[in-house]
Amino acid sequence: MKAHDGMYIDGTWRPAAGSGVIEVVNPADEEVIATVPAGTVEDVDAAVRAARAALPAWAATPPAERAARLAALRDVLLARREEIAETVTAELGSPLKLSQTVHAGVPVAVAGSYAELAATYAFEERVGNSTVLHEPVGVVGAITPWNYPLHQIVAKTAPALAAGCTLVVKPAEDTPLVARLFADAVHEAGIPAGVFNLVTGLGPVAGQALAEHPDVDLVSFTGSTAVGRRIGAIATGMVKRVALELGGKSANVILPSADLSRAVNVGVANVMSNSGQTCSAWTRMLVHRDRYEEAVELAAAAAGKYGDRIGPVVNARQRDRVRGYIEKGTAEGARIVAGGPDAPREKGYWVRPTVFADVTPEMTVAQEEIFGPVLSVLRYDDEDDALRIANGTVYGLAGAVWAGDEAEAVAFARRMDTGQVDINGGRFNPLAPFGGYKQSGVGRELGAHGLTEYLQTKSLQF
Ligand code: NAD
Repeated sequence: MKAHDGMYIDGTWRPAAGSGVIEVVNPADEEVIATVPAGTVEDVDAAVRAARAALPAWAATPPAERAARLAALRDVLLARREEIAETVTAELGSPLKLSQTVHAGVPVAVAGSYAELAATYAFEERVGNSTVLHEPVGVVGAITPWNYPLHQIVAKTAPALAAGCTLVVKPAEDTPLVARLFADAVHEAGIPAGVFNLVTGLGPVAGQALAEHPDVDLVSFTGSTAVGRRIGAIATGMVKRVALELGGKSANVILPSADLSRAVNVGVANVMSNSGQTCSAWTRMLVHRDRYEEAVELAAAAAGKYGDRIGPVVNARQRDRVRGYIEKGTAEGARIVAGGPDAPREKGYWVRPTVFADVTPEMTVAQEEIFGPVLSVLRYDDEDDALRIANGTVYGLAGAVWAGDEAEAVAFARRMDTGQVDINGGRFNPLAPFGGYKQSGVGRELGAHGLTEYLQTKSLQF
């Protein structure tokens, strides 16, 4: 057990203002592995003041220099990837291989993409008789969740730095260790003091203080819709910019002409990865009624193979929540064909990979984000029915379409109310804008679209 001290503020680890601590627990076995300080309003204020003081110089830094710092950051993240992977596995519970490829690997790609964008982006453009300047928004308050703990921090920090903003990050209480490691990486990359600051702490205390701070110009939040709504209200009330990356209930639409086995197997893997704790997971599989039973059998067989290889969920609350949803699914008439609500292990926050058949669109398990390894398989009659079901939730973050013919899949994807659609198993693209339609959020992350979130425009007329 390691007791960590300090907050990363103004380029150094300085003692926290209060004496409260947060215990970090390994979800696989419930051991307390570390403590970190629980930041207070004073810590947040000190961090925001440091970010404000560092803003003029960083905003005036030539983009090529910001690009060089981001490239250095990418290199540090790459050099420390093993330590990053082990840290995420210890505090999130994800299998080490997933931690290596995704939790440690994706942030390297994203940091690298912003090194390149900072160097190449047109921060000035000519429109008729005007020159339009794309200037940094200012001081950013970033509040991040635990499910992809480093990715979420980098997906906000890298574009903010590329834009010339300074920032304060408040990471999730469950996963503060990789956030601390990231602060060390920022330091090692030579990013000037005060440009990046880290305050660990509880959401309703440190998170809220950051969202409410009058000197924060933009709040960027990823997490639950409930908290996102509150943060949106605070920011709007103070006329601050706000970006919200919230939940999802994405549809995996398998059209009759698709390769069923491939679509089902990739679909199940998509849901079970990271123990289902992915906001963009395809948690609703939509299958034509003629191929429904075959799909259910394939899905049950695929899920059955996972056992406890998927890793636990993050904490006891999340485990209980997921199990509660599994019980609710049964109570509302859905049929469990794999997994179930019982605990597969005595210690740790384990949930069985679960597949529900006979799910109808209005059931709770087809409407609400479960954030666990639970897949609902729904039946549709024809394409219009599939579209109604796919679009029939309050969310619209991601999705998938499978068809024998790519053009057929694209035609369906065009009609979906959602921010991303993978066609026949399309690969993750770190440059593609990521974000929600409807209640899945406001704004976009990643690539050039993610960069513009951190810019504001000024027009000079000639
Ligand atoms: P959460 O929304 O409570 O936490 C996300 C972040 O917000 C954390 O850093 C937290 O400390 C902070 N926070 C909490 N309350 C706050 C407040 N009042 N003011 C400011 N900041 C606050 O999410 P959670 O409890 O960790 O997870 C609950 C559910 O949220 C999950 O089951 C899932 O459905 C959803 N979720 C979605 C995502 C996503 O990527 N979209 C990520 C994590 C969780």
